[in-house]
Amino acid sequence: MTEPRTTRCLIVGAGPAGYSAAIYASRALLNPVMIAGIQPGGQLTITTDVENYPGFAEVIQGPWLMDQMKAQAEHVGTEVISDVVIEADLSSRPFRLVCDSGQVWLAETVIIATGAQAKWLGIDTEQKFRGFGVSACATCDGFFYRNKEVVVVGGGNTAVEEALFLTNFAAKVTVVHRRDEFRAERILQERLRANPKIEVIWNSAVEEVLGDADPLGVTGVKLKNIQTGEVTELSCDGLFVAIGHAPASEVFKDQIEADANGYLKIKPGTASTAIEGVYAAGDVTDDVYRQAVTAAGMGCMAALEAVRFLAEKDHEAAHHPISHAEAEKIGVW
Ligand code: NAP
Repeated sequence: MTEPRTTRCLIVGAGPAGYSAAIYASRALLNPVMIAGIQPGGQLTITTDVENYPGFAEVIQGPWLMDQMKAQAEHVGTEVISDVVIEADLSSRPFRLVCDSGQVWLAETVIIATGAQAKWLGIDTEQKFRGFGVSACATCDGFFYRNKEVVVVGGGNTAVEEALFLTNFAAKVTVVHRRDEFRAERILQERLRANPKIEVIWNSAVEEVLGDADPLGVTGVKLKNIQTGEVTELSCDGLFVAIGHAPASEVFKDQIEADANGYLKIKPGTASTAIEGVYAAGDVTDDVYRQAVTAAGMGCMAALEAVRFLAEKDHEAAHHPISHAEAEKIGVW
């Protein structure tokens, strides 16, 4: 069996939050270790053009940006490991995390940056056109639909907000919802109703995304009325799927308080969870902003808080030395 490995700072997840945390923790000489997870690079690896990440005058590609972040994190000293955390025990110190490979990690601090995934409809053609007319992020991709027609699927706050946002660019926005009422907040529904660019198609589901192969692009959607079974086609240039996100918090949510949707709770204005030395950053804790740049900022906060926590711990140990036996007992090394 592989020997457990120890680290001062274990970062779980390799998106903008994880890499930013890694860069800051490395530069504070914590020698952080990152467990990159199932989808290294996170949601940006499934986007194409990125125009809203500061620092680049030209349009850049999501996967390229993530490669750069990885290279930067490694350059300053992060050890990035291809593995997946499958178990975590945060109830005693050092924290103990077990990976899919069987490797056990003992960590003084843990930064959880496991992100979230947009929920998709699950139809084949949706995957075919993902990044080429099918998107789950209006903030990221809305700009590419100036004077075009788009369809938004969903009936919650996200769908209504995305539809409203898209009216800044698109000539027409059609919201397709599977029921005959929205679950979005009233005020958002009123704004939607008052917007002349938005039309709603009720009781309907997107059955198929229609499009061209060369160049790959969306030309419309096939809709099915759930009540009558009638199938119709609606032409559009883009489809925005806005049926919710799911945070990747499964491994941690029994030990760290999460909200009803599974987002990990942190103390307001910080990246600190209720467990000292455990931090959460990015989409695993944020269901409001969900941007690469906000995730990166939160990753930075988490690392700075970990640095401060460890400095206080080191100071305490230097000024109140304890015996080796005592240290082992309470898990301080
Ligand atoms: P949500 O509230 O769970 O709504 C998801 C919507 O998608 C629902 O209308 C649902 O239909 C529909 N849907 C789910 N699966 C579907 C499928 N397979 N096919 C077609 N439609 C499907 O998700 P959300 O809108 O992303 O919001 C998530 C959380 O974040 C909520 O708590 C929300 O309040 C919060 N949020 C807040 C703000 C804000 O405060 N400004 C903004 C965004 C999100 P049904 O209605 O039929 O279930």
